[in-house]
Amino acid sequence: MSNRVRDFLDILDKFESFDFDAYFEQVDDEDVRKSLKKAYPTWMDFLNLLSPKAQNHLEEMALVARENYIRHFGRVLQLYIPLYISNYCSSDCAYCGFSKKNRIKRKHLTKEEIEKEAKEIAKTGIKHLLLLTGEAKKIADLNYLMIAVDILKKHFSSISLEVYPMDESDYKKLKNCGVDGLTVYQETYDQEVYKQVHLSGEKRDFLYRLKTPERGARAGFRALNIGVLFGLSDIKKDAFFSGMHAKYLMDKFLECEVSLSLPRINQAEGDFKPNFYLNDKEFVQIMLAYRIFMPQIGINISTRERASFRDNLIGLGVTKMSAGSKTDVGGYEGKDKSTPQFEISDHRSVKEIVKVIKQKGYQPVFKDWEIGI
Ligand code: SF4
Repeated sequence: MSNRVRDFLDILDKFESFDFDAYFEQVDDEDVRKSLKKAYPTWMDFLNLLSPKAQNHLEEMALVARENYIRHFGRVLQLYIPLYISNYCSSDCAYCGFSKKNRIKRKHLTKEEIEKEAKEIAKTGIKHLLLLTGEAKKIADLNYLMIAVDILKKHFSSISLEVYPMDESDYKKLKNCGVDGLTVYQETYDQEVYKQVHLSGEKRDFLYRLKTPERGARAGFRALNIGVLFGLSDIKKDAFFSGMHAKYLMDKFLECEVSLSLPRINQAEGDFKPNFYLNDKEFVQIMLAYRIFMPQIGINISTRERASFRDNLIGLGVTKMSAGSKTDVGGYEGKDKSTPQFEISDHRSVKEIVKVIKQKGYQPVFKDWEIGI
């Protein structure tokens, strides 16, 4: 299929009238077993592994996923930590605490405050930082981000961005400044639902967002992280399209490390009620299906998930975990805090999480990249 694909939109178009329910209906146990044995699983194998029938085979899936994980990554688990520097936003997304319609405490860190937060986080020893803002281009503009990166690179060896989508030329400036990774979630691949939950602001532009990881890759970022917000739309379709998108990026940008995250909706300001619910069993199934379909994919799990659940995922395919996270601006230094973007569930310190990773027989990795500028 990849030979004929010029653009990920071709893949979305190809599946526009595909009947997922009818496909899942006809998958039997033998189909799942065959898909598990494939050295090079196809998109149909991926669907088989996402099917309800595959829930009878989670243990076999876990064995294959673990083998793939150990073969490609070894017994290691990388840690990263998020830093929110601004929570102003000019978009209205129904599910997000930072939405412009929410009357929350807003905060935009000064240079001095960014430095203080950086020093506080650096005490944990984690060297991979995820830098976040709301989508307010005029407040957290390119210049502000470059100043922030300049400060942060003194304390961290790898900086990834999770801000508003930008043009390639702006990404190049950030890359030259020291950013090496880009996170951008499509939230959902269902264009109708996308319109319904992105009520106003630049984020309403589905296609511009869809092509963001490619602009980032062309600008020279070495790491791309994508995903959906599970709960917005049909869970299995979003799992399928996020996997297909990741595969498309891996095939097209061989020099990039591509990862998937599996955020599911948590409580945030505004009381959004999701139409769909991703339960723990299906969450694990999707994660295993990703790992089997794409043995070399990175998989990130954040502190949205509760501690005991995260611990049980170690060794099943997760390559990166956030630790010690705060989702409010100014949250690490602890003075004059703002409203968080969403509630986190794993409140343990970095030390506590490191202890668990070691107890499970894995090596926590604080640094595997050094900014090369
Ligand atoms: S999801 Fe992003 S763009 Fe939407 S309201 Fe939240 S911060 Fe703003």
